[in-house]
Amino acid sequence: MLNIIQLLPDSIANQIAAGEVVQRPASVVKELLENAVDAGAKSIQVIIRDAGRTLVQIIDDGSGMSETDARMSFERHATSKIRSSDDLFRIRTMGFRGEALASIAAVAQVEMRTRRADEELGTLIRIEGSEIKSQEMVSCLPGTNILVKNLFFNVPARRNFLKSNSVEMRHILDEFQRVALAFPEVGFSLFHNDQEVYNLVAGKLSRRIIDMFGKSYREQLAFCEEETPYVKVRGYIGKPESARKARGDQFFFVNTRFIKHNYLHHAVIGAYEGTLPEGSHPFYVLFIEIDPSHIDINIHPTKTEIKFDDERSVYAIVMAAVRKAVGIYNLSPSLDFES
Ligand code: ADP
Ligand code: MG
Repeated sequence: MLNIIQLLPDSIANQIAAGEVVQRPASVVKELLENAVDAGAKSIQVIIRDAGRTLVQIIDDGSGMSETDARMSFERHATSKIRSSDDLFRIRTMGFRGEALASIAAVAQVEMRTRRADEELGTLIRIEGSEIKSQEMVSCLPGTNILVKNLFFNVPARRNFLKSNSVEMRHILDEFQRVALAFPEVGFSLFHNDQEVYNLVAGKLSRRIIDMFGKSYREQLAFCEEETPYVKVRGYIGKPESARKARGDQFFFVNTRFIKHNYLHHAVIGAYEGTLPEGSHPFYVLFIEIDPSHIDINIHPTKTEIKFDDERSVYAIVMAAVRKAVGIYNLSPSLDFES
């Protein structure tokens, strides 16, 4: 009898896994931003060239990595964020799968400089298609500076599948906005082909929304807050008359993670109770805080879908929070910002 099954080499396994994690340049932006935030960065710079086709670079002032960790970070299933299966029920970080860097390095040319504040020298690693090309000690700032060049250089099919620069850039902006909204206490900047697209100072959520979407939002936001022992909701909704024809700027975050959730969207719309002009969509940025043991975020690699163990309670509290904000605004249309 002939045995024909073999274990795939890491480079091929990584490339296959990359198919799920890295769909386009925006996926790289998302994963690297989340890593920077998880590393406790206070300031994060994003540099993009050619809508991310030739370069996605992210510079953070977070924890940085030791020499060994720098090398380990590119291994598949290598993570500092969970250690046991129990940890899966108390995830507080954006990442935990330990797949992003391995996947990105499988389909791009990566250069990473990283240094911990308590070390004098940092580490520079170059890796291409999962293969480490060089590793050396360098002097660099504390934190991590990672360049992802020529995405899909070794996967022509994926490269050809990419859309126009404007479409790819739209996806990048979406990912950037989601992370920047979730972490207003962190400063973010974004450059595309040497042009500054965003420069967002650290501050309150209201300021972040106005800096990101424009000054006209200053008059249009109503603060929302509601809480039960199970779940807490806070954020801003747009006043009914500011609703737009195009469906767009609507954000739910669960424990700072952006999610898509039709059922909860429905709760928000319901709470406006006919005050919305026909066929228009309200603006909202709502943060749901819940004990991680009540949610499952492990449904999909990009983690934009989650399950709550008591979805109806979340629905009710979201609806109550929005209804209250709409009601208060109807009585006294003055500004109410978070203290
Ligand atoms: P995950 O984020 O799911 O743990 P990644 O592949 O994205 O997996 O990263 C692997 C590990 O590398 C992380 O757990 C973290 O310890 C480290 N790491 C990645 N990016 C950074 C960064 N910007 N700063 C500090 N450490 C980082
Ligand atoms: Mg990660």
